Amino acid sequence: MRDFSQDHRWLSLNTATVRKQWPLDRIIEECARRDIRAISPWRDQVAAVGLDKVARQLRDTGIALSGYCRGGFFPAADAAGHQAALLDNRKAIDEAKTLGAPCVVLVVGSLPGALTGKPAYTDIGRARNEVFDGIAAALEYARQVGMPLAIEPLHPMQAAERACVNTLEHALDICDALDPQHSGALGVALDIYHVWWDPKLQQQIARAGAARLLAYHVCDWLLPTRDLLNDRGMMGDGVVELKKIRGWVEEAGYQGYSEVEIFSELDWWQRPGEEVLDTCVSRHRSAV
Ligand code: ZN
Repeated sequence: MRDFSQDHRWLSLNTATVRKQWPLDRIIEECARRDIRAISPWRDQVAAVGLDKVARQLRDTGIALSGYCRGGFFPAADAAGHQAALLDNRKAIDEAKTLGAPCVVLVVGSLPGALTGKPAYTDIGRARNEVFDGIAAALEYARQVGMPLAIEPLHPMQAAERACVNTLEHALDICDALDPQHSGALGVALDIYHVWWDPKLQQQIARAGAARLLAYHVCDWLLPTRDLLNDRGMMGDGVVELKKIRGWVEEAGYQGYSEVEIFSELDWWQRPGEEVLDTCVSRHRSAV
């Protein structure tokens, strides 16, 4: 297992971690200042600064991407909705290409409209079928342009609104069905916040192997968790056995970045961005 204690060369910053403090261009500057070698930006943050400007800034600073957030949200009420979702995913794939991302992270979606409290239907089995078909369609385009897709299984507490793929096993089943040759075109983004509790985690990480493990996201699970979406902890502040899980991931062959992704309405989004980044660096050395 790699030694993270001496430097932070394998730290990537998911830029949502300081989204409340700074726009993306400032985030990139602050990362460059701290020798953070990679980021994973969100589409709205890129759009706010401008795609070409961000691409240029990444080239100028030498900062790489560890992923691009995000595509997905495939289920829809009707055919027009499916078409719109597919077009939007193609756009995300094109943007990822421009930015030199290694993959597009997919938050696959679930009951259409549930995010606003008014789902068009309540059949989660139907949503799963639509997710499968949506990934298949997006994958066709992604293969053409050479952009891998990474399915991110989300914690089951988000099964209605954000993702009806809730375990690594389910995500890998989809990968095996759509990419039986393990080509590298389809894999998973493993986010410990969503999967740490899973009794099959070690087994499924081994099943995934290096060809399917496209991204690895870290934070921590706080006691108590006060908000289902935006109360992620800083690494070392919660109950996730981060080093043990990274050991499994590396044993499976993963040698990429560990990407710090912390949505924290009540704590880290309230603090100065400089403090957040400095803490990410020090905890990456001590706790990840
Ligand atoms: Zn994540």
